[in-house]
Amino acid sequence: MNRERIVELDKSHVWHPYTAMSKYVAETDPLVIVRAEGARLYDADGRSYIDANSSWYCAALGHRHPRLVAALREQADTLCHVALGGITHEPAARLAAELAACGPGALPHVFFSDDGSTAVEVALKLAGQYWLQNGRPERRRFVALEGAFHGETLGATLLGGVDVFRRAFAGLIGECLRAPTDAGGYERTFAVLSELVSAHADEIAAVVIEPVVQGAGGMRIYDSALVRAAREITARHDVFLVLDEVFTGYGRTGPMWAAEHAGVTPDLVCVAKGFTSGILPMAATLASRRVFEGFLGGAERAFLHGHTFTGNPLGARVALEVLAVYREERVIELAQPKAARIAARFARLGELAGVSGVRTLGMVGALDLNARGYLDQAGWRVYEEARRRGAYLRPLGSTVYVTPPINIADADLDELLDIVEDSVRAVQSSAA
Ligand SMILES: *Cc1c(COP(=O)(O)O)cnc(C)c1O
Repeated sequence: MNRERIVELDKSHVWHPYTAMSKYVAETDPLVIVRAEGARLYDADGRSYIDANSSWYCAALGHRHPRLVAALREQADTLCHVALGGITHEPAARLAAELAACGPGALPHVFFSDDGSTAVEVALKLAGQYWLQNGRPERRRFVALEGAFHGETLGATLLGGVDVFRRAFAGLIGECLRAPTDAGGYERTFAVLSELVSAHADEIAAVVIEPVVQGAGGMRIYDSALVRAAREITARHDVFLVLDEVFTGYGRTGPMWAAEHAGVTPDLVCVAKGFTSGILPMAATLASRRVFEGFLGGAERAFLHGHTFTGNPLGARVALEVLAVYREERVIELAQPKAARIAARFARLGELAGVSGVRTLGMVGALDLNARGYLDQAGWRVYEEARRRGAYLRPLGSTVYVTPPINIADADLDELLDIVEDSVRAVQSSAA
């Protein structure tokens, strides 16, 4: 099918996420991607674009890593799907054991789901049901940070701390307790968090945070000591701590899991995105022995939740191979000099006129343009400049950032960083 026909069908029928559709249909000339490999996307006209955000943080090992594609093919030859109710299979069993051994916090029990949002839902429901049937039924609230992003389902939206994303759904869902992240920096945020937990411990099921980086809320980075402080206060009041590693996992912030920066063991952890490196939607929630044991006993104590595709054999087989590639290709170790390249370049970008701040950690580099909020257009002008130069650089409002594959080739990374710099300069000089 030719490009024009694809766009015609798309504009007639596809409802795009986070997209003002009238403007899209009237004005947007979308990228039509036909193929992807490594850090690059290829469009219908044969042009390539460096995937600056790993396709929404998923393709951590790049697109179509040959070992992952081979594992997928091999699994497809024997078993593509089977329910996990009263049935098991080797990919799910092996993957759960591996995640228990090398996942964040070394939590021994693994509940599979489909994506980051469902991994978060599972954590919320586990915490809620746990307290209900273990003597604290009044613990029905969650605490989250302003600026947080935890996903798209109603429960995850309830936790979300960015008002633009939440306000259309106000009233449909309960409100959680929230610690602010604006004035006074993260020290203040965690001080308020601590006060909230102390004051409301009897009502709180869990505190949910993105460790070390608030990702989709603006790539905001904070000190890992604060994750430790959150662990201490929740432990003191016997409240669960949920770490949402959906963005930060699989080496995004340096170590395999962001929890390692802080050296804490949470009660529940959510992992997704890099889970299959963009090959299939799959995720997991890891739970401590204590949480698991709170569901032992009669049928009425079982966890009342299970997605149709939970533990899907294709996804599980690919996810196992992802962990093997991280180990055998020394992905975390080899990313260190790449992270240093990002840090060095963004430090320089911070000196450009019109750039109000830069932040880097591991394979995350972000800068803020002098602009206002998520709906400001400055980031989109940089996006257009980058597209002309061969990069897919979707902004978060006025925040321009890179979160490339963890194993991106040095030459591709340097090209991407050049494109970021040239694109920001182009927009600033046209604004001047
Ligand atoms: C993206 C994201 C989610 C939601 O994941 P989906 O796969 O989009 O459902 C949850 N938490 C964090 C921290 C995320 O970055």
